[in-house]
Amino acid sequence: MTPSVKLQRKRLKKVPSWKDVKSKKELNLGLDHNNRSGKNKSAKTMGLPCKCKMKCFDKISDNIRKTVFDEYWGLGDHVRQWDFISRCVRIKEKKVATTSSNSRRALSREYYIPINFVEIKVCKVMFLNTISVTEKIISTVSKKLNMSPVIEHDMRGKHTNRPHVIGTTVIDFIKEHIAMFPTVESHL
Ligand SMILES: [Zn+2]
Repeated sequence: MTPSVKLQRKRLKKVPSWKDVKSKKELNLGLDHNNRSGKNKSAKTMGLPCKCKMKCFDKISDNIRKTVFDEYWGLGDHVRQWDFISRCVRIKEKKVATTSSNSRRALSREYYIPINFVEIKVCKVMFLNTISVTEKIISTVSKKLNMSPVIEHDMRGKHTNRPHVIGTTVIDFIKEHIAMFPTVESHL
């Protein structure tokens, strides 16, 4: 890479204006807002329940779904929303029966909706529609977890009985770590 190319790629650091900050906050709260290009984005509304064979719609009423929706958007902060998602999405290795040795590891996601202390397994559509997000954010969160396997929290004195985890269970392990930190407001 030549220095001139480097120079062009370097972005000027932009100090966010009050308008940008306000817009971002409203975006994270799922509220009606104008985006940075001034286009109005309507407030988030909960999507329809699924119609799948698992009948997730029988497991969770619309009232409860709305509570979860409000909880998610009430976080109002994308990091906390990522954290929320990371606790609801599990990556599992698909059990694929293979006859040859060139089997590839297939990973799939499982979605859970937390209701009080119980997690209800739902299909992807139900999960995405309930908190009204797209699959893109799930990929973002998954990537973040994969890229930063070390969560910078001091975990000493915990997990003394936990065996070593390897391979695909690492992701679940990380999520358990995250789940141990309740999303409380920081002391401001
Ligand atoms: Zn479903």
